[in-house]
Amino acid sequence: MDGSQLNAFLQNPDTLFTNPSIPTVFDWEKNDMALNQDKPSSAMDEDEEESSVDSMLCDSNSRLIPFGFSKSNCTDEIMMFINAGGEALSEADSRMKFLGDSYFEGGNVMQTNEHIAEAGDCPFIYQSARFGSFCYRFNNFPPGDYFVDLHFAEIINTNGPKGMRVFNVYMQEEKVLSDFDIFSVVGANKPLQVDDLRVSVKEDGLIAMRFEGVIGSPIVCGICVKKAQNIPVPQASQEYLKCNNCAADIEVSSAQKKLMRRKVTDKYEKKIQELTTQCQLKTHECHEAWMSLTAANEQLEKVRMELDNKIFQTRTLDETVGKQAENLKNITSRYGHDKKYWAASVHDLQEKIMIMKNEHAQLSHDAHACAESIPELNKMVTGVQALVAQSEDLKLKYSEEQAKRKELYNQIQETKGNIRVFCRCRPLRKEEISAGCALVVDFDAAKDGDLGILTGGSTKKTFKFDQVYTPKDNQVDVFADASPLVTSVLDGYNVCIFAYGQTGTGKTFTMEGTDQNRGVNYRTLEQLFQIAKERSETFMYNISVSVLEVYNEQIRDLLSTSPTSKRLEIKQSAEGFHHVPGIIEAKVDNIKEVWNVLQIGSNSRAVGSTNVNEHSSRSHCILRIMVKSKNLMTGDCTKSKLWLVDLAGSERLAKTDAQGERLKEAQNINKSLSALGDVIYALATKSSHIPYRNSKLTHLLQDSLGGDSKTLMFVQISPSERDLSETLSSLNFATRVRGIELGPAKRQVDTSELQKMKTMLDKARQESRAKDESLRKLEESLQNLESKAKGRDQVYKTQQEKIKELECQLELKTSMQNQSEKQVSQLSDRLKGREEICTGLQQKVKELETKLKERQQSESASYQQKEGKLMTVSCLIQTG
Ligand code: ADP
Ligand code: MG
Repeated sequence: MDGSQLNAFLQNPDTLFTNPSIPTVFDWEKNDMALNQDKPSSAMDEDEEESSVDSMLCDSNSRLIPFGFSKSNCTDEIMMFINAGGEALSEADSRMKFLGDSYFEGGNVMQTNEHIAEAGDCPFIYQSARFGSFCYRFNNFPPGDYFVDLHFAEIINTNGPKGMRVFNVYMQEEKVLSDFDIFSVVGANKPLQVDDLRVSVKEDGLIAMRFEGVIGSPIVCGICVKKAQNIPVPQASQEYLKCNNCAADIEVSSAQKKLMRRKVTDKYEKKIQELTTQCQLKTHECHEAWMSLTAANEQLEKVRMELDNKIFQTRTLDETVGKQAENLKNITSRYGHDKKYWAASVHDLQEKIMIMKNEHAQLSHDAHACAESIPELNKMVTGVQALVAQSEDLKLKYSEEQAKRKELYNQIQETKGNIRVFCRCRPLRKEEISAGCALVVDFDAAKDGDLGILTGGSTKKTFKFDQVYTPKDNQVDVFADASPLVTSVLDGYNVCIFAYGQTGTGKTFTMEGTDQNRGVNYRTLEQLFQIAKERSETFMYNISVSVLEVYNEQIRDLLSTSPTSKRLEIKQSAEGFHHVPGIIEAKVDNIKEVWNVLQIGSNSRAVGSTNVNEHSSRSHCILRIMVKSKNLMTGDCTKSKLWLVDLAGSERLAKTDAQGERLKEAQNINKSLSALGDVIYALATKSSHIPYRNSKLTHLLQDSLGGDSKTLMFVQISPSERDLSETLSSLNFATRVRGIELGPAKRQVDTSELQKMKTMLDKARQESRAKDESLRKLEESLQNLESKAKGRDQVYKTQQEKIKELECQLELKTSMQNQSEKQVSQLSDRLKGREEICTGLQQKVKELETKLKERQQSESASYQQKEGKLMTVSCLIQTG
């Protein structure tokens, strides 16, 4: 028997020995009345029952009573009643007293609420118990004989079985109950009394009770100690048996007793024999059953092992199938992924190819167009070349024309005279008007350049000038006539402009002007910059400005910032030019800079003088404009100078009463002004000797006075009667400078001559205008042609570049297309390979699955067979 079988047996021992024909030793269940008093109703042998219960009682005087304690039955005097495992209780009439559990040693307490059947007058006794390994010791009993009643009930092992609790009881170390089994007598929750156990108490007054377990542990519910009264002394000859029902003594003879004993002995022997044979039979049966069980077990073990093997195989197969399925899944997903990827890339490539094809078509179309446009381009090129040649020719003509224009312009200027004198009369001052000053100037013929001076009374002296400006003429009018001369400097001519006159007549006003009314200096530069800008395509101009002062025959640089500048001297270069080494030439690029420079100059002039006007009237203020030009077409360079001179006041010429420094000043001014007059006069009269060296001023201006240089002098006069003498002196000086003395007799002659000159001038002007116009047109057409030629050139170049680019692109695209086609074919090959692998794998998986299925089927069939066999074996075992 293995462990589980043993357990099952312990749980339910009837299962293995359920043969109903074999009676068990403990089977009293169907006969709970089978006790001393109640005769059994079954077919069981009454002696047998009796003897089994009797065998538990070792004291022949003691009795078993299968119900609870009844007061009426108790005739003896109760010494003490212990409620084992319970509490002390006393009856209401206080006749009965139950002590609580004491006097014990060891054991445990058990209490139940279960109903105890037939529990008598005091059922609570049986609802508590002491169980386990314990004993009771009662002291201080008077020596003598006592009866002890023990009260039992099986309240723990209520389900039995019999034999679960078997124990012995010793009283004063004498066995009174042997192999006592409560359940086997009355079952569970039923009282069982063992009455009248005789005990003799010795001198020590002790009653000792010992409970000893045979199977399980002993249990007891109550202990009652009674006083034994009138215990009959048994007679030696006679023996009595007590009646179980009425407790009457039945006299038994010794012969009867002997018979009884022999009967009992026989009965026991017979029974022992029967039991021995039964036991042998059962042992044999058991052995056989055990053997067949062992064989069945062995078979089962084998089957189990086989099953285990199969299970293992199935598992390994499952695992391989799982792995394969996983593999297949992986491969499938990879395949799907790859397929998608390749399809996408193929699609991509196809699109690219499409685009490339389109581009290719476009490019070849473009290339065709380009190729077709080549003859057109060639035509254009030849056209452009012709245009270029034409433009070159025009350029040549243009420069020739320009030279001619310059010449003509110069001729015009020359016909006007290289030396010109303009007379300007200032308006009367407020104080002059208030003082009632009379006017001595007559402007009736001012338009013709004639100026009349009333020299007193009706006498009128007439002066002739190139221009006469009345006080009404403004700065713009004045500059309008001066500007043609000024612009000659850009054509490479040297120009000098002077303002001559008495102090306070407007020299500085004419030359410098005021902030609101700017004069010749500023306007000249403004015009120079304007013309330079207009000519910027053909000429490059470099303009610089110097501001000088000549005082007491000394030259001062007004732009120099150093206060102790060294003495400036006039030098002549190897080429014969006169220059002043060390003077500052401020390069100016625009009119704003010019104004700043002019301001610096005029501020510098004021430094060191207490009265600006006074000082300025005693010195010559000179603005030198140096123009360097480059003809961008011919590369010709010129260098020319424009002098703008605000001369010292001329009034002192006559005043010789000055002394000291003033005298020196006056002498110097006188010297320089007369030297200037002499030089200009000599030039006008074409004298062989020009006395430049007579003063610093003329020496400085030497290059720009004479030759083809232009000279303009503004003679400034006052209209006032008070200044008449100075006015006449200035006008005389100017007339001398002009080189033409005008007298009344000469006038006619001069008029006819003048008329001739005028007509010539008009003609020349007309011609000049016509030439200018044609020149402008020519320039325009040239520019047009040039721009056209440039444009065509550009178009041609870009077209050629485009063709090259397109060709390159075409080549690139073709190679790319070839490559991508190759790639596509490679990719489709690879795809095919993958698909084949996949189908192979799928087939393999299918095969494996079918194999698995077959195996499972065969295994289940074999299991079924084995199960059938096992069933039959077990049936056989059961029936056998
Ligand atoms: P100068 O330089 O010859 O000594 P200014 O130029 O200083 O003379 O002129 C003296 C004054 O006369 C200034 O106040 C100036 O503005 C004024 N003036 C000179 N000429 C004119 C003119 N044409 N129109 C108006 N004012 C003038
Ligand atoms: Mg002045």
